[in-house]
Amino acid sequence: MLYFSLNKQSPNVSFAEAAVKGQAPDKGLYFPVTIPKLPASLLQNLRALSKDELGFSVMQPYVGDAIPAATLQRIVSETIAFEFPLVKVTENIASLELFHGPTLAFKDVGARFMSRCLGYFNRNSNRHTTVLVATSGDTGGAVANGFLGVEGVEVIILYPSGKVSPIQELQLTTCGQNITALEINGTFDDCQAMVKQAFTDAALQQQYSLTSANSINVARWLPQQLYYFFALQQWQHQQPPVIAVPSGNFGNICAGLLAHVSGLPVQHFIAALNANDAVHRYMQTGNYAPQPSVATVSNAMDVGNPSNFIRVLQLFNNELPQLQNVLSSTTLDDHTTVATIKAVYNQTGYTLDPHGAVAFCALQQYLLQYPEQKGFFLETAHPVKFPQTVEQATGQTVPVPDSAKHLLQQQKKSVVLDADYNTLKDWLLSR
Ligand SMILES: *Cc1c(COP(=O)(O)O)cnc(C)c1O
Repeated sequence: MLYFSLNKQSPNVSFAEAAVKGQAPDKGLYFPVTIPKLPASLLQNLRALSKDELGFSVMQPYVGDAIPAATLQRIVSETIAFEFPLVKVTENIASLELFHGPTLAFKDVGARFMSRCLGYFNRNSNRHTTVLVATSGDTGGAVANGFLGVEGVEVIILYPSGKVSPIQELQLTTCGQNITALEINGTFDDCQAMVKQAFTDAALQQQYSLTSANSINVARWLPQQLYYFFALQQWQHQQPPVIAVPSGNFGNICAGLLAHVSGLPVQHFIAALNANDAVHRYMQTGNYAPQPSVATVSNAMDVGNPSNFIRVLQLFNNELPQLQNVLSSTTLDDHTTVATIKAVYNQTGYTLDPHGAVAFCALQQYLLQYPEQKGFFLETAHPVKFPQTVEQATGQTVPVPDSAKHLLQQQKKSVVLDADYNTLKDWLLSR
């Protein structure tokens, strides 16, 4: 499979080059030159296949000969080595729980796949690769965990001091080994600006072979298709599902749309948004006007200008009416999000996290209009990662899952830096 740049000013590249570079030299996002069609036999036998077999069959055409089959099988199996249960919440709504991975959020899937691919591509190189990444909470933990112990790669994570939850901070700061956490006295936007500037700094490039673990990387984007397939394996109804996806940078929903364009039966998609609603306004008016991000209780979706939306448009040949046939959007304020967590908890006993709550509510509203349909939403993180909002809504403390209890015994280790690019640069150059 070859990948082209959506800015169309750079040559086509293999999966390996797209994954190592992240972004094309013309700053475009990479996109597959053709969308593979799923074989009819695969769709007919969906339930009979193991997760590993299905995962390999879906990913193989995208990777092509960049990774030998046996290695790709191992990478896929390690990536998805946990559960993706579809859990009934109401008569017509189920929750696709994507928080059973090591850092309790769906980003584990993309991060685990990407880290193993980069480890493979780096296998004969004697140059160390440094992954530099800014996080508002979930990305950093998933990337740290995914790359922990990967030979030849070190990870440096910038996170905003005091602005991530206690569990998120422990996930970022207790890995040790090849993972370093920089605690920045500033906001997520400061962290992201510092990382962006580092990538353009020639003095740093001399000392470091820098790469990003951003969600625009094809090796993070593409494997996110898999859990839509795992959900369909568990889907019990005749009619295909309506799927609501809590969306920020639009990587997750774009992977679902890609799976659908390649043949996965889905009735309709809903992009569930918080107050950061540039895509919603576009879907209504055809006018795309990104805005600076605003802070909400579903903070992993606080993205003013979603990077991956351009891929969504490309999937539908940049034709808004084609896209509107398959995708709707909804925007929710924080008050409604918290009220949804509360109502669902009181009525069903199910605890939503703030991101899942935005999607649940969007799906519920949609199904009021289409009562003959059924659907599921993506529960993208465990509620324990957002305890303040969830406990305020339900009045209950969220128990820490067994898989995360070990974190509570550990000591945070971070390097505190001011939110200033030269401070970061001096620190990097003086190590
Ligand atoms: C990252 C994240 C999102 C947004 O996903 P995108 O792929 O950026 O749209 C939603 N929920 C949670 C919990 C996240 O961590």
